Amino acid sequence: MNLVLFGGPGSGKGTQSARLIDNYGLFHISTGDVLRDHIARGTELGKIADEIISKGQLLPDDLMIQILDEELEHNAKGVTGVIFDGFPRTIPQAHALEKLLEKHGEKLDAVIGLEVPEEELEARLLNRAKESGRADDTIDVIKKRLDVYHNQTEPLRKHYIGTGLYEPINGKGVVDEITDEIASRLEKRTGVKRRTRR
Ligand code: AMP
Repeated sequence: MNLVLFGGPGSGKGTQSARLIDNYGLFHISTGDVLRDHIARGTELGKIADEIISKGQLLPDDLMIQILDEELEHNAKGVTGVIFDGFPRTIPQAHALEKLLEKHGEKLDAVIGLEVPEEELEARLLNRAKESGRADDTIDVIKKRLDVYHNQTEPLRKHYIGTGLYEPINGKGVVDEITDEIASRLEKRTGVKRRTRR
């Protein structure tokens, strides 16, 4: 089962990913985590990423597609399925994901859209900023990230509705109930049951 977890910054992608990994034994690819790891190790890519992330902007598509290609090639061989968290973020990235999966004889099964109103996203991010220590959790950068999400990433929602893969989930509310809702939609869509409860 290959899934995209889709939603704005602060929509709960990280939280729900952790649960989906446990519930379905999926391999997790978070492009944000990959970039933060490069920053921590001080690689060339890390230096580029640091500058862009701290401004709340997106890295260039070709670079991100190359990173994803490498992740799939080196780390995701033989896994039962992948959860893509934070990728794709643009239409060209979505097309590239289709091609990359095809290359591995795979396809996307669903795009889980965590739908949270923008004011709530902003409130959550500001709250998270107090304890996260993330360089991009400051008020100006948060506003920029929400802007970037709105302009560059949100159009993907329409794209995935068009492909029939989009599964809208109300992302406002109790974490456990959101997990239950995702599981029930996935079971309906793919027939796959989760192996643990939450
Ligand atoms: P995240 O942890 O997913 O919120 O990602 C943190 C930051 O990493 C984003 O604000 C972007 O600057 C960068 N980033 C992560 N994934 C992507 C992507 N697929 N395309 C472009 N930039 C990305």
